[in-house]
Amino acid sequence: MAYEIDKPEEQWRAELSPEEYRVLRQAGTEPAFTGEYTDTKTTGVYNCRACGAELFRSGTKFESHCGWPSFYDPADSDAVELIEDRSMGMLRTEVRCARCGSHLGHVFEGEGYPTPTDQRYCINSISVRLEPTEG
Ligand SMILES: [Zn+2]
Repeated sequence: MAYEIDKPEEQWRAELSPEEYRVLRQAGTEPAFTGEYTDTKTTGVYNCRACGAELFRSGTKFESHCGWPSFYDPADSDAVELIEDRSMGMLRTEVRCARCGSHLGHVFEGEGYPTPTDQRYCINSISVRLEPTEG
């Protein structure tokens, strides 16, 4: 599928740090409890670190205690793309930025978290960048 932002891999590699590239472009996962936004409660918007698209808002971030920033709903359902992921012997749903196709994390549902959607978008901190709301 073609994305609105479509750059050659060498260009992504030049623009992103090695760890950002590994997660965003090679569907890597940052180690649990190491990401800079795991426990962040700052009000703001989380944008794609690769292309800047708005992905999640702080109002849907919740404490999942899973080690990664967790959201129960994207800012806009069209902002993310969901893809069946059968890697690592599991059936999971991968979450990608709909604008540039970069890997963000996975979404799980029916885990019983007390959120409106019962979904957990488990997102790598390094895949996003928080833009705090002023005031
Ligand atoms: Zn993006």
